[in-house]
Amino acid sequence: MNSIDEKLQPVLAEVIRRNAGEPEFHQAVHEVLESLGRVVAKHPHYLEQALIERICEPERQIIFRIPWTDDQGQVQINRGFRVQFNSALGPYKGGMRFHPSVNVGIIKFLGFEQTFKNALTGMPIGGGKGGSDFDPKGRSDAEIMRFCQSLMTELHRHLGEQTDVPAGDIGVGGREIGYMFGQYKRLNNRFEAGVFTGKALAYGGSRARTEATGYGNTYFVDSMLKTRGTNFDGKTVVVSGSGNVAIYSIEKVQSFGGKVIACSDSSGYIVDENGIDLALLKEIKTVRRERISEYARRRGNGVHFIASDKGSIWDVPCDVAMPSATQNELSGKDARVLVKNGVIAVGEGANMPSTPEAVKVFRDASVLFAPGKAANAGGVATSALEMQQNASRDSWTFEQTEARLAAIMRSIHDTCHETADEYGAPGDYVLGANIAGFVRVAEAMRMLGVI
Ligand code: NDP
Repeated sequence: MNSIDEKLQPVLAEVIRRNAGEPEFHQAVHEVLESLGRVVAKHPHYLEQALIERICEPERQIIFRIPWTDDQGQVQINRGFRVQFNSALGPYKGGMRFHPSVNVGIIKFLGFEQTFKNALTGMPIGGGKGGSDFDPKGRSDAEIMRFCQSLMTELHRHLGEQTDVPAGDIGVGGREIGYMFGQYKRLNNRFEAGVFTGKALAYGGSRARTEATGYGNTYFVDSMLKTRGTNFDGKTVVVSGSGNVAIYSIEKVQSFGGKVIACSDSSGYIVDENGIDLALLKEIKTVRRERISEYARRRGNGVHFIASDKGSIWDVPCDVAMPSATQNELSGKDARVLVKNGVIAVGEGANMPSTPEAVKVFRDASVLFAPGKAANAGGVATSALEMQQNASRDSWTFEQTEARLAAIMRSIHDTCHETADEYGAPGDYVLGANIAGFVRVAEAMRMLGVI
């Protein structure tokens, strides 16, 4: 708490008091408030009208029961969440996460981060997030469908293309989005394409949305490397996770000439010194939905699998690290190992994957460090492009859409870089992202009055 400006310390104290037992939310608020001391020193009017207190309080939080019947005929009950955090810049926008660890604190932290991330994209979208403690692992297609339909039977009344627009996140990909959108369409009796993003091309999706978060993070890291006169060519890269973000980070890094030698899932990680065979990884993860150890078994060739209780993927020496699995997956100890092994850049594909201690280690060592709210904004930016295409009943080519994504990521990079310079912290992307995102949301909120 000491690193927070004394004028802002009561804000954090109140957030902790009112949101007891939600450590991830406290962590996310703490990190943003830490950056705002320089802003309120320069622009004290942001301390007026409880503006910062209002930014930390979600506009609306919805928690609901999701009953569904499994393949054995047993009734199961899960809990659903949607936190509509901030709509100063546009309709609430943010993904749905299905994972047993989901609770209101996790969804709140994600919605809070999303608000600033969406502002950084420069697109007209507010911040929100949702999900359920449902575990999709091992469930049949029919069970997934019944669960998604039950969830949407309640959630549909809170959504709308001008109100709240969900998308995917951990455990929610094209299949789940299809089932949720299908039920929304049925209940509302209208084909409201812009109410969901991450849709398949067949019913109004955007080209390059699936790839966007991983590609976007790679563009961001590439821009950071260029500030030091280098690029991905010939660099050794480690990407954690093997889901949507990880797979398309690996694809783009490879196309930029980097060599990705390790990736993971929650069971452990694999090291493939020859460079990951992406076609094999995609088949195992997106078609067969198997564990990562299967990659080592099928590839042979000296590839080894290390179980998660036997070591950390961050022990693998690399030039660039791209944590792309989940929050707090990279500890202070991991960061020290990465620095010792000579890492030069870290791009957060996941949301808040580095612990506060890890972030400090990277910043103290002058590692190029891209925080998730800037580096992984390509996904939501392309979701906003999907909404644009839906609104104009248009469909762009892959090249057109990727070119827009690349331009947005370069612009987010430059905004963070310039903002850090402006506030006297050159090269500090954490500060740059937090301040630039905050100022956009805060300015709009000031104009809208106390609401
Ligand atoms: P996926 O479900 O496609 O993949 C998640 C990956 O992370 C899987 O390999 C999963 O392994 C692993 N993982 C998840 N939870 C844990 C855990 N507790 N411990 C270890 N590994 C874990 O999700 P996405 O790729 O979509 O999301 C990854 C991250 O990126 C999340 O933080 C998400 O919020 C963020 N993000 C995603 C965006 C998107 O467009 N999809 C946009 C912006 C951010 P396993 O299968 O074993 O669980």
